[in-house]
Amino acid sequence: MAIINENIVYLDNNASTSVDDRVIEAMLPIFKSNFGNSGSDHAYGWEAEEVVTIARERISELVHCKPSEFIFTAGATEAANIGILGFCRANKSKGNQIITVKTEHKAILEPIKALEKEGFRVSYLNVDDCGNIDLQELDKAITKETVLVVVMLANNETGLIHPIAEIAQLVHNKSSTLFCDITQAVGKINVDLEALNIDMAVFSGHKMHGPKGCGALYLNRKSRLNVVQTFYGGSQEKNLRPGTLNVPAIVGLGAAAYYAKSELKTNCDTMLALRNSLEKGLLDIDSVFIHAQNEERLPNTVNFAVTNIDGGKLLRRMNKIAISRGSACNANTVNPSHVLTAMGFDAAIALASFRVSLSKATTSSDIEFAIKNIREAIYSLQKMTA
Ligand code: PLP
Repeated sequence: MAIINENIVYLDNNASTSVDDRVIEAMLPIFKSNFGNSGSDHAYGWEAEEVVTIARERISELVHCKPSEFIFTAGATEAANIGILGFCRANKSKGNQIITVKTEHKAILEPIKALEKEGFRVSYLNVDDCGNIDLQELDKAITKETVLVVVMLANNETGLIHPIAEIAQLVHNKSSTLFCDITQAVGKINVDLEALNIDMAVFSGHKMHGPKGCGALYLNRKSRLNVVQTFYGGSQEKNLRPGTLNVPAIVGLGAAAYYAKSELKTNCDTMLALRNSLEKGLLDIDSVFIHAQNEERLPNTVNFAVTNIDGGKLLRRMNKIAISRGSACNANTVNPSHVLTAMGFDAAIALASFRVSLSKATTSSDIEFAIKNIREAIYSLQKMTA
């Protein structure tokens, strides 16, 4: 299943995952027969509203929150814009400082940059060579002026997991608010929003075998968050995401959440075993090391670096596998990854670092194939340039 045409093995699941067949099955009737607008006051509308309600319940069970605590959006980027812009603008009178981390995804950093232009002062926390933040530095950085602290749960490039429960404690001790991008963690590890004590979170369907164009913004009811509108139109989704609900995608996200929850342990164990054998195979190759190797990471993500090599040439030789350099959203540019640069790596290493990301569809033969392709590519390039 993981091998698509031309025998290219797909190992870029942090960019996007295949849609589970059962998710497609759940979505099809919503296109064909049950196509009503969930806001309409007749049988078609009521039916659509009902399937949306079921999806809300399934999603809330996956991330451990109440069905009323999140709104549907077109993905994590849109959710982050609605949440970050809306919350900071609403709370400007409280203070004008935002704290975030240099290794956050652009979906988070860009709305924050927009707020910088509106007069907010942004503190970007440094990370160590594994991507960890210093919690004492964070604690010191939070002042009475801190409106929002933004730290992701798991990094999309390295898989590094931040200690979010501890961070939430620090943030709340100083009466500030925590926004957390949980996009890469959902469906790969257990994400318990209530236990983590996050105030706002975002995630996305297409990273967990659901459809593209559907995600959510979580707003913790206990935090009583004041969020002003970014978009205007209808009153859907608490006025924050106006417009007709994307019912087929919402049903797909609900189905993806249902399977992600019921199969979490099996998927996690399988991916971890495959990831470990991939890492073993990679570390047997001369001049390869793995970023954040000994840190707590997602069970599906490996970011390996090759020393003294031209990363661009190497990528072109690893053409039998689909892997990525930097985040997918940056893939058209040759800029070194801002994540690896923040971790202190120079451009040559950052450009010769590759993310391999597995999914529940990855098989052991995919991994063997990948190790072989990577090994042959490195050795043949090293031989040529020796
Ligand atoms: N946050 C992280 C950590 C991501 O990896 C991504 C996608 O690459 C996003 C946010 C954006 O998600 P979406 O594609 O749903 O807008």
